[in-house]
Amino acid sequence: MSSLGLCLNQLEEMEEDAGLGNGGLGRLAACFLDSMATLGLAAYGYGIRYDYGIFAQKIREGYQQEEPDLWLKNGNPWEIVRHEYTQKVKFGGRLIRHRDSKEQVKWVDTTDVLAVPYDTPVPGYKNNVVNVVRLWSAKAPNCFSLEFFNDGDYLKAVFDRNSAENISRVLYPKDNMFEGKALRLRQEYFLVSASLQDAIRRYKSSQPGVFVCKRESFDEFPNKLAFQLNDTHPALAIPELMRLLMDEGLTWEQSWNITCRTCAYTNHTVLPEALERWPVELMEHLLPRLLDIIYYINHLFLTEVRRRFPNDEGRIKRMSIVEESPNKQINMANLAIVGSHAVNGVSKIHSDLLKSSVFKDFYEMYPGRFQNKTNGITPRRWLLLCNPDLAELISYKLGDGWIRHLNQLKHLTQYADDQCALDNIMQIKSRNKQRLAEFVCKNYGIIINCNSIFDVQVKRIHEYKRQLLNCLHAIVMYNRIKQNPNKHYVPRTIMIGGKAAPGYHVAKKIIKLFNNLARKINNDVDVGDKLKLVFLENYRVTLAEKVIPAADLSEQISTAGTEASGTGNMKFMLNGALTIGTLDGANVEMAEEMGEENMFIFGLKLHEVEELRSRGYNPADYYSCNDELREALEQLRDGFFCPECPNLFTDIADNLMHHDYYLLLADFQSYIECQERVSAAYSDPYKWARMCLLNIASAGKFSADRTIEEYARDIWNVTPSYDIIPAPSEQPLAPSIGVDM
Ligand SMILES: *Cc1c(COP(=O)(O)O)cnc(C)c1O
Repeated sequence: MSSLGLCLNQLEEMEEDAGLGNGGLGRLAACFLDSMATLGLAAYGYGIRYDYGIFAQKIREGYQQEEPDLWLKNGNPWEIVRHEYTQKVKFGGRLIRHRDSKEQVKWVDTTDVLAVPYDTPVPGYKNNVVNVVRLWSAKAPNCFSLEFFNDGDYLKAVFDRNSAENISRVLYPKDNMFEGKALRLRQEYFLVSASLQDAIRRYKSSQPGVFVCKRESFDEFPNKLAFQLNDTHPALAIPELMRLLMDEGLTWEQSWNITCRTCAYTNHTVLPEALERWPVELMEHLLPRLLDIIYYINHLFLTEVRRRFPNDEGRIKRMSIVEESPNKQINMANLAIVGSHAVNGVSKIHSDLLKSSVFKDFYEMYPGRFQNKTNGITPRRWLLLCNPDLAELISYKLGDGWIRHLNQLKHLTQYADDQCALDNIMQIKSRNKQRLAEFVCKNYGIIINCNSIFDVQVKRIHEYKRQLLNCLHAIVMYNRIKQNPNKHYVPRTIMIGGKAAPGYHVAKKIIKLFNNLARKINNDVDVGDKLKLVFLENYRVTLAEKVIPAADLSEQISTAGTEASGTGNMKFMLNGALTIGTLDGANVEMAEEMGEENMFIFGLKLHEVEELRSRGYNPADYYSCNDELREALEQLRDGFFCPECPNLFTDIADNLMHHDYYLLLADFQSYIECQERVSAAYSDPYKWARMCLLNIASAGKFSADRTIEEYARDIWNVTPSYDIIPAPSEQPLAPSIGVDM
């Protein structure tokens, strides 16, 4: 490369992110793939090869604008197309029943779409294991739209091929929000059907001899395969696997046994607006065979509920997979629970909440099904790769075993009072901050003070994540400085980054508000470098890799009971940032691991949130007796931060004062006081550095390797299938592995 005048770093900077997910959910899957390969588990990641990934965010005059993300425009050297494994996926059509059989139903007159797989290698960490992620691209079959062709409209037939190929055109950009669009349902079924057919094909080719389909031929299926449903988006796997097995000639009972033993479901949210409920009418039109199977699953299931809990029609109504009102719809979470042998949440508090509220009835019926698998992150990307200086320091102190066994970080505790080690940590953080400051200056033209607290909140913009609470703190700091400009303040740089779903108007308004605050505050000479606000445009994985190693303070401030786990929180902890946070999601377990004295915890606890809501929450109780809060809300309301359009933020203020569903005002005072504790702690560099070190030292639990070992042991019943080769140079090449059949 150097002989060509090329620089590897430059080339790496040019490479597009594969932005094929919305936020934490997709990133979690990517971390899991890394861990499964590193642990030597034979696993495939299945997904859709979207032509357009998550949109690119541009900020113009403070507003978010979306630009299409044509990530494949310069080609993609990491993938290979596998035409030989193309699958056919059916849509529409009608059913022909054979007598009254539930098994022998023909699905005919369908419109078929081809699913073409593209494989990308997923190498384990220095173990000579390579798994694959297999992404499906939609293609119209050659015979597509032939009626028109026969009628002579050849061009229309060719143009119509788009309707099939649109299935893999674009990622739906809503995070934690259900959108009941037909194309989205087509995407979900497309993924599920192609992936299951692919798995069945591989199962057959792995059986000894020529595969002859007999009923016993599938006996080994649940022992050889496990399907982990990442949320309900692939929950159609349950009726689809039933369909495929019955089409192979198995009975309903055999198919149901195999399906339940093979599938497991991970729940990722309790927000009601995020739970998938598909209109029956739409399912009937697009997937009549699956609807038929779902109805029969529900019939058998409700019969069992009635037997177990006689004369309890309220329970039947709550547990039914088919909901009757307000419209007839399929509750995908209920379907996923009924068809799985394991259901898990993604942090302790979240898994408990599933059992005590959202899925209480299901827990009472199937207590043994419910589990917890606290999320994790891969230490390879989120420390070794993104923070090489810190990684080197840790390896210098402890050896490099932590890269595979993150629990070894606990041995750092012995350096908690070692001034030299603390100096090293501070120097590394300081260099990372300087690099980020250069990036901010170059890209946004804002000069930031590297001695200030780098106070960072990066994640999708959502009301429940409470970026607005962060904004209120910025307003309070600004008002204090203006009121008393000569007092000493611990300087801060508040950075917020994240995308708002294009149709989520409140989230977009929050971005505009933060940018207006930044404009006013950054240009106020009284403020100087005591306070700066920076919006980090187009937050994505490659930006996270630059920002997180440079952060001093990680904002994890969701209303207790709303963030299922969070994984951003873990990335910051591992990189020596301190957390200001509520006792929500995995923050609870982080506090347990490091000790509450090493975290800045504030706000209502889950039970207090429940109590406050049940006795009737009135936000006016809070602002009427809090001068700083009232002042901030009035400034929002009267256009102080938006003279050119004074009513722009009135609705935000009114909403907080009259509804405030996420209890920002209830947590306001506690948050402000907690931020004061942060500033005081930062003023004592060794105290701060000691806390940073103890954060890093207790991050071991949050390795995705630990999470995956638990899934493997408690849900999949698998052990590593590959020999792990520690040092490729010392060993001959292992036998060819990861070769797809
Ligand atoms: C880790 C990550 C997330 C998830 O962050 P949370 O704070 O857990 O919501 C979202 N986006 C990107 C780019 C990430 O790397």
